[in-house]
Amino acid sequence: MAKVELINLSKIYPNGTTAVKDVNLTVEDKEFVVLVGPSGCGKTTTLRMIAGLEEVSSGEIYIDGKLVNDTHPKDRDIAMVFQNYALYPHMTVYKNMAFGLMLRGMSKAEIDRRVREAAEILGLTEYLNCRPRVLSGGQRQRVAVGRAIVRKPKVFLFDEPLSNLDAKMRVQMRAEISKLHKQLQATIIYVTHDQIEAMTMGDRIVVMNNGEVQQIGTPLELYNKPNNKFVAGFIGTPPMNMIEGTILRLEEKLLFVNTQDDIELEVHPKYQNILLRYLDRKVIIGIRPEDITVTLENPTSKGVSIRCRTEVVEPMGSEMNIYASSGKSTLVAKSRLEKEPELGSIIFFCVNLERCHFFDSDTSLAIR
Ligand code: ATP
Repeated sequence: MAKVELINLSKIYPNGTTAVKDVNLTVEDKEFVVLVGPSGCGKTTTLRMIAGLEEVSSGEIYIDGKLVNDTHPKDRDIAMVFQNYALYPHMTVYKNMAFGLMLRGMSKAEIDRRVREAAEILGLTEYLNCRPRVLSGGQRQRVAVGRAIVRKPKVFLFDEPLSNLDAKMRVQMRAEISKLHKQLQATIIYVTHDQIEAMTMGDRIVVMNNGEVQQIGTPLELYNKPNNKFVAGFIGTPPMNMIEGTILRLEEKLLFVNTQDDIELEVHPKYQNILLRYLDRKVIIGIRPEDITVTLENPTSKGVSIRCRTEVVEPMGSEMNIYASSGKSTLVAKSRLEKEPELGSIIFFCVNLERCHFFDSDTSLAIR
């Protein structure tokens, strides 16, 4: 298996679209790295450049220490699994997996060994003689993964492989691919727009937007310490609440105040020093829905809660998402209230002040 390095990698398409801008990334040997971001952020283009399916405009790609910018895709020792995995309908599962190896002129015995080994890993042994049409979506996706495994490549590239599956199957395949990664001890680069997929599967995640890397880190690093407003809003569901306001001083304390929406929160002592330089300036406070406790009564201590009007309640089973407004701000909390609050009723969002995030209003960067 192998290490993959991208150095100042950029792609400008002939029509002038800059799809990827100056991406720097090192994927270590045996690492599972997920590229995640909204549609059009340049994930697929990055992956296709690594595979050699797209020409590099500038920058370098190294696989196992070897510069591969001008290496033909078939000589890069990479296998790619696409969203549209297009199996050959007239071939059996066995033949679908064996076909690529046959084209490469591998011996029958070696092909047989590899196909059976992959089928065993993927739980497909009993389907080897079936045609794809009798398989479920998940099983077909596994055959597509099998086609990649039999090649024993240095690096696996996955491009949204689970998008065509239903929600339940996606959860199951997510776990299977993670397990597979451990079993194969493979280097994997995986593209998705789904942040839950990224959080649950990646050793590290690369968040992209507008062709640029926003942050690289482990799932918990991104969740706990987002570098900027974009990452903060992208990782986590429902997304982090963001409110703009001003930092004011009240005696010994600092307050976050948004007079328009009647929001006043105390700044936790842990943030006092860093926010002093923002005194009388605008900042954005970020509050995750799971860092809010919903109460029906006004809490006695001041500066810890936001008075809101209930707008929408989404029961999720073990908890509910409560959307409520304070002035023009609509906020969302994950709540474990026993009973759903009535629409239009007044409730209080009590904020875990220690877990708030602050962002510079002008640059959108995290204030640390
Ligand atoms: P999605 O999740 O929708 O596939 P993505 O993050 O993978 O999005 P890319 O497919 O890499 O994004 O596209 C990045 C940008 O490059 C987009 O603005 C897209 O419109 C543009 N683009 C992609 N392919 C081409 C092309 N062949 N010619 C011109 N522009 C392109």
